[in-house]
Amino acid sequence: MSIIVQKYGGTSIGTIEKISLVADKIIKEINNGNQVVVVVSAMSGETNRLLGIAKSIDNKISGRELDMLISTGEQVTISLLAMTLNKKGHRAISLTGSQAGILTDNAHNKARIESINNSVIKNYLSDGNIVVVAGFQGVTEEGEITTLGRGGSDTSAVAISVALDAKECQIYTDVDGVYTTDPRLSPGAKKINQITTEEMLELSSQGSKVLQPRAVEFAGKYDIGIRVLSTFEDGSGTLVKKENDLQMEKAIISGIAFNKDEAQLTIRGVPDQPGIASLILGPIAKLNIDVDMIVQNVGEDGLANFTFTVPRNDYENAKKSLIESSEKLNAKKVEGNNQIVKISMVGVGMRTHPGIASKMFSVLAENEINISMISTSEIKISIVTDENNLKTAIDVLHKAFNLEK
Ligand code: ADP
Ligand code: ASP
Ligand code: MG
Repeated sequence: MSIIVQKYGGTSIGTIEKISLVADKIIKEINNGNQVVVVVSAMSGETNRLLGIAKSIDNKISGRELDMLISTGEQVTISLLAMTLNKKGHRAISLTGSQAGILTDNAHNKARIESINNSVIKNYLSDGNIVVVAGFQGVTEEGEITTLGRGGSDTSAVAISVALDAKECQIYTDVDGVYTTDPRLSPGAKKINQITTEEMLELSSQGSKVLQPRAVEFAGKYDIGIRVLSTFEDGSGTLVKKENDLQMEKAIISGIAFNKDEAQLTIRGVPDQPGIASLILGPIAKLNIDVDMIVQNVGEDGLANFTFTVPRNDYENAKKSLIESSEKLNAKKVEGNNQIVKISMVGVGMRTHPGIASKMFSVLAENEINISMISTSEIKISIVTDENNLKTAIDVLHKAFNLEK
């Protein structure tokens, strides 16, 4: 018997009717002779609702108590799904992350899975159960409940697949696969049949939330494939796997991701001296704010401008800190923009095709889209522009790089 791991996201189990539909899909897999472990998210909107309540008490809340609260969404859906499977005549048991032996580090709200004691799930499977595990959560060695960061059920599913040496890790969601860009923004986006783990990791990290970046990282590390599928339509979805395992025509660009969760800050007219970058970014790091892109340019007068991006949620705090630094450094000015978007083109073909960046820049220029920052890696080019340009930029890049349907 093979073990299949299936993960269902929030919209797939948002109502009792949908849970019943999901139960039927699981039973179909059982009838095919497989053992099934199911990982579920909270009902759509539930995690946001819980976060909203917590924020109404304390806007900056984080840590242990927040995990205690937001992990409850998944406890609701595991029990409802197990009840539904029972009602349909199948043995099923629901397990919290802790009961399933999912051990994490103690970084509350963004914990990493350290190990899974697979004997618990295996025993329930051998007893003929469908095992329904709460996604997004785990437990520390000290018995504290942790959560894995937004979208973390994907990572739970991949980690469980690895721990059980599952035949397949199927991620069911509300789209029928990974597209060349978010199909909700661009109806012309094309479904990708196969994509390398490396490219998927870049797309996810740059904002394509169809898979949590850590899930893809985990799959790459342990060399297992992920299949992204629709809960509501039949189809073969998208296979995410290591490059060598895929037989595919290599597209130069596989997709375009975007991220509207960042904001940009600039400090102008700082002395161009050693140590300046750390004087500017040190206080930001002390506030636990992650800095993403950084650009420094030096003018002829020996003064430099320093621009960087931070998560949009941290914009006000970062700006305050930068204004304080600017007074100490005798800088000319601090500017900020929290209405930006980062757009990233991703593709392994970039390694062997020079000129992709210049084509990207000229296509954007022809359409009067101003670029404020650029960063590149071996298989990715990212630019920052005004948020209003998002739709046009994605559309023209799609056309220019033949990514449309
Ligand atoms: P789930 O609740 O099932 O985990 P998510 O909302 O986390 O679902 O992820 C699915 C969503 O990801 C889709 O509805 C789609 O809008 C979005 N998305 C963003 N980029 C892409 C992409 N490149 N391909 C497919 N979906 C994408
Ligand atoms: N319910 C969690 C969230 O909304 C985890 C998940 O959906 O994967 O982020
Ligand atoms: Mg998700």
